[in-house]
Amino acid sequence: MNGAVVLTSRRRPAIWYWLIVIVLAGVALTLALWPRSGDVQRRDPDRRLYVNVKRAVSGGKIKLDGRGDAVDEYVIYAGVRAPFPKEPYFEDSMTRNAELVVGKEVRLRFGKQRTDAKERMLAYVFCGDEFVNETLVREGLAYVRSTKTNDRFSKRLLKAQKEARKRRRGIWKDRVWTRESSYFGDPKYGNFHRRSCEETDRINPARLRTFKSAGRALDEGFAPCAKCKP
Ligand SMILES: [Zn+2]
Repeated sequence: MNGAVVLTSRRRPAIWYWLIVIVLAGVALTLALWPRSGDVQRRDPDRRLYVNVKRAVSGGKIKLDGRGDAVDEYVIYAGVRAPFPKEPYFEDSMTRNAELVVGKEVRLRFGKQRTDAKERMLAYVFCGDEFVNETLVREGLAYVRSTKTNDRFSKRLLKAQKEARKRRRGIWKDRVWTRESSYFGDPKYGNFHRRSCEETDRINPARLRTFKSAGRALDEGFAPCAKCKP
């Protein structure tokens, strides 16, 4: 009897001790997770950023003017590939992109992969109601380039590309269609190649995709390689 009383009186401070520990841990966790000002990623559940555009470098790259939520100097458009400087429609693509975004505030949305291999911000760009990446694809001024880590709007973008191909707009107007027995796609980068391209040999066999035609590769969200021009 006496032993039991001693045991109970010894237990009581232990319960209070654990209650205090739990409350303090709760307070610490709340403070740690509380959104801080400037922490845009936490503040916005959709992980959006608002930035101002200074210049269009190409149809798939913009320079920011440093205001807004800018965390980087440049933004690369996700899910698409615009013509490179020596490819046809490079100028048209850049000019149209400038018309759409320069001097405006745009909203950036992100897929799973927020930066590219060169650590540049990779984003889907919205200006008002306009989805800029999609507009460029629909007007035949960019290819869809869907990767495993950035396929968030692929369905929408592929629909726009189908329309551009059907109406033969921009890059589709005088595209030279090659006729090879197979084309080779790399889902990591979202590009496809001819057999003879040196890039084909660099594709990890575990992820290599084979297509019967260039059209099939395009329909699956692969963009043509700028070197081998499949
Ligand atoms: Zn190639």
